[in-house]
Amino acid sequence: MRRTLIAGNWKMNGSRDSIAALLDGILSGVDEVSAADVAVCAPFVYLSQVAERLQGSVVTWGAQDVSSHANGAFTGEISADMLLEFGCRYAIVGHSERRQYHGETDTVVADKFAAAQVAGLIPILCLGEQLEERESGVTEQVVARQLDAVLDRVGAEALAQGVIAYEPVWAIGTGKTASPEQAQEVHAFIRARVAAKAAAAGEAVRILYGGSMNAGNAAQLLAMADIDGGLIGGASLKADDFLTIARSAAA
Ligand code: PEP
Repeated sequence: MRRTLIAGNWKMNGSRDSIAALLDGILSGVDEVSAADVAVCAPFVYLSQVAERLQGSVVTWGAQDVSSHANGAFTGEISADMLLEFGCRYAIVGHSERRQYHGETDTVVADKFAAAQVAGLIPILCLGEQLEERESGVTEQVVARQLDAVLDRVGAEALAQGVIAYEPVWAIGTGKTASPEQAQEVHAFIRARVAAKAAAAGEAVRILYGGSMNAGNAAQLLAMADIDGGLIGGASLKADDFLTIARSAAA
């Protein structure tokens, strides 16, 4: 049985004050959310504030990126061990904005996944096709390439200890959501590809959907057989919307 995970990706948004208010809002309603694990992924500089405020609550937290290196002369990088020292649970790797604007290749993403996992974090591996790729019918090839880079690097069993987020790039921050059927089709494809390597790993791996998921469309997406939660950008910045999405997991 895969437990639903609703994870917020705040991206490069917030200030000490707005984050304090957002966390207060989430904490005021999260006790009613029993059907899902709830997590927030904050900008690095606010992680200790987030850790302190969430201590003792059911809400866990993660980083939006992590270095593929353990330590050393990598100016500006943050290692998995540094994150763990503060109580971090998750690290997003391979978000499309990192692939697109920071040149992260499939190999770099696989290295980050492995580094996060070896240190004890749960990596959230983002995959997804661009609009032109969907329109030219190569969605499965793109997703397979991104997935295989990690499968080949760590193996199916280790992959299944992490989390996958299918995020069609054309749906991120655009207000354009994949239909539940479109998303389900790709989620089933991803699961089958992991299962082809190890059946139990395919069954166990949590696959989140991300791309303009909001309070209005979450229930339908989360009702699909292979959608095990959501990675939420814009809508995770409003406590009420984020909690509504988390509550939709039980609908
Ligand atoms: C994301 O950044 O991972 C995301 C899914 O963003 P949004 O929900 O805003 O589309």
